Amino acid sequence: MTKKIAVLPGDGIGVEIVAEAVKLLECLRRDFGLKIEMEQALVGGAAIDATGKPLPEQTLALARQADAVLLGAVGGPKWEALDISVRPEKGLLGLRKELNLFANLRPAILYPQLASASTLKPEVVAGLDIMIVRELTGDIYFGQPRGVRTLPNGEREGFNTMVYSEPEIERIGRVAFDIARKRNKKLCSVDKANVLECTELWREVMTRLAKDYPDVALTHMYVDNAAMQLVRAPKQFDVMVTGNIFGDILSDEASMLTGSIGMLPSASLDANGKGMYEPIHGSAPDIAGKNVANPLATLLSVAMMLRYTLHEAELAARVERAVSRVLDEGCRTADIYTDGMRKVGTREMGEAVLTALKQS
Ligand code: NAD
Repeated sequence: MTKKIAVLPGDGIGVEIVAEAVKLLECLRRDFGLKIEMEQALVGGAAIDATGKPLPEQTLALARQADAVLLGAVGGPKWEALDISVRPEKGLLGLRKELNLFANLRPAILYPQLASASTLKPEVVAGLDIMIVRELTGDIYFGQPRGVRTLPNGEREGFNTMVYSEPEIERIGRVAFDIARKRNKKLCSVDKANVLECTELWREVMTRLAKDYPDVALTHMYVDNAAMQLVRAPKQFDVMVTGNIFGDILSDEASMLTGSIGMLPSASLDANGKGMYEPIHGSAPDIAGKNVANPLATLLSVAMMLRYTLHEAELAARVERAVSRVLDEGCRTADIYTDGMRKVGTREMGEAVLTALKQS
């Protein structure tokens, strides 16, 4: 059956990198029998400019109908002065919430060809392959009450609420245990159970779930220690599971172990395997429109879409092999460039992957 993909380029480099991903999907359809149809819509700042809203109803309706969503990135200085409730980022948070995309999968893989692009010593990061499973629809980002209020003495205070229900913890826990089962059967749950009651419950639920997964070794780590261990000895981790805010920070930290934020894809899944796929980086206004952005995180997001929503594991592996091949050939965008390599732009990198796809 033909699967529908909603394509939402968004803002800044989102437009450039998604264009390369669309070419990849078209190539997979034309030459490899992938049964898909694509439709584009506006989100983020581009949608604000056109409709006044970061997530227009039409875009949300398309995303709801689609089997998978491919997203570039949203945001930029042009919209920073707007009220927080109508900023481009609200479009993204709205999509995650409305589509119930509670499980964010962020692999941090260091391609051996890029070991020297990391700021850490090659021996610390060579062979790194971590999967961070971040809960995406709860926690302090969505908890109520929230706001800024004025106290009787005239001082203002800002407040947010960290909240997780037991079922919310259990469903993300099961996703993480299932993934750990398919990998090296090691799961590290990250919390701050020594200080925050909310994550004390998190730890209790993860420990209870572990009884259903006797083949997976569960460990617990406080988030401050996890942040430290990720730069000290990252290869000790295989799968990590954590809440929304800790996951936001740790996954960005993990991304830097791999040399560039431009290399890392992500998937956000609902309970039925529908997913939104996007690079972990933002709209990079500093390099937008210059044909220098690295499109590989987005192309690898297509590979995740093939694996997790379209159930085309062989095509997913083919895309990943093609990426590895272009790196072997020395193709590098500016963010991963090192001496002696061949510097290419966004479009050239996309084309190189398409050529390699046919040889992989
Ligand atoms: P960013 O990820 O856009 O950029 C951080 C740095 O990484 C910049 O120097 C940028 O040039 C570089 N970079 C990012 N992606 C790259 C790529 N593919 N190739 C090469 N270099 C790349 O983060 P920021 O600068 O903090 O945010 C810029 C805007 O993006 C803001 O409006 C922010 O709110 C938004 N944002 C959106 C998302 C999203 O849509 N998922 C995520 C993060 C930030």
